[in-house]
Amino acid sequence: MVWRVARQLDGALGGLELTRSDFRVPRFATTNLTGRSVLEAVSRGKHLLIRVDGAVTVHTHLRMDGSWRIRPAQHPPPRDHRIRLVLENAEWQAIGYQLGIVEVLPTAAEQRVVGHLGPDLLGDDWDAAEAVRRLRATPGRPIGEALLDQANLAGIGNLYKSEVLFLRGLSPSRPVGTAGDLKPVVELARRLLEANKEHAGQVTTGNPARGQETWVYGRAGRRCRRCGTVIKADGYAGRGTASQERVTFWCPACQPEPGPP
Ligand SMILES: [Zn+2]
Repeated sequence: MVWRVARQLDGALGGLELTRSDFRVPRFATTNLTGRSVLEAVSRGKHLLIRVDGAVTVHTHLRMDGSWRIRPAQHPPPRDHRIRLVLENAEWQAIGYQLGIVEVLPTAAEQRVVGHLGPDLLGDDWDAAEAVRRLRATPGRPIGEALLDQANLAGIGNLYKSEVLFLRGLSPSRPVGTAGDLKPVVELARRLLEANKEHAGQVTTGNPARGQETWVYGRAGRRCRRCGTVIKADGYAGRGTASQERVTFWCPACQPEPGPP
């Protein structure tokens, strides 16, 4: 979860002067932040903002396969073609692998990259009513798709989308306008994210044992923990996204399709 990554990067880099900045993306290959201090690292939805002395922000996004590794700064960064960015101080080395976005911008221009986001589920400024208002703006849209749209609410991924809809008994294909009160839906999403934000694993069932973590996510072909019906999976024809990210999981019995009008 990006919230946790931001906190780890903030702990390793925050308040210390960079002794190495190595941007391995063509556009910023010559950018050098050495000698500047990192002010803080924060998340906005799934975006990561590393604010650096001199009103500069390093904006990254994990997208599909991205990850960060933090290790003591005793060795040169590994030779690995998957590395996109290395930020290092006297104590720590933070290595960003396969990041989907790496860019440097003026801190004052952050709104350009995160201004479109809906209320942040893990933000101090979380606003459930505003998230509901944004979801409701497209009443015909399938709720599974609408919940993933970061312009409606920021921070929900495929796992939480699938789990929240199961727990609320809503089919992912149900149009937003027929899904009833959405406040409990977004509040549940926030509670699940809050409960998991400190941990590497993500558990929605309350049971962290291997294979027991989720109700429906990743469980296609297995039996529903509540009713025994076989869990279904389906790829969404989501706009411009890799299909795997949009695979949705649901129990056809616990999450019935809306009936005919
Ligand atoms: Zn079921």
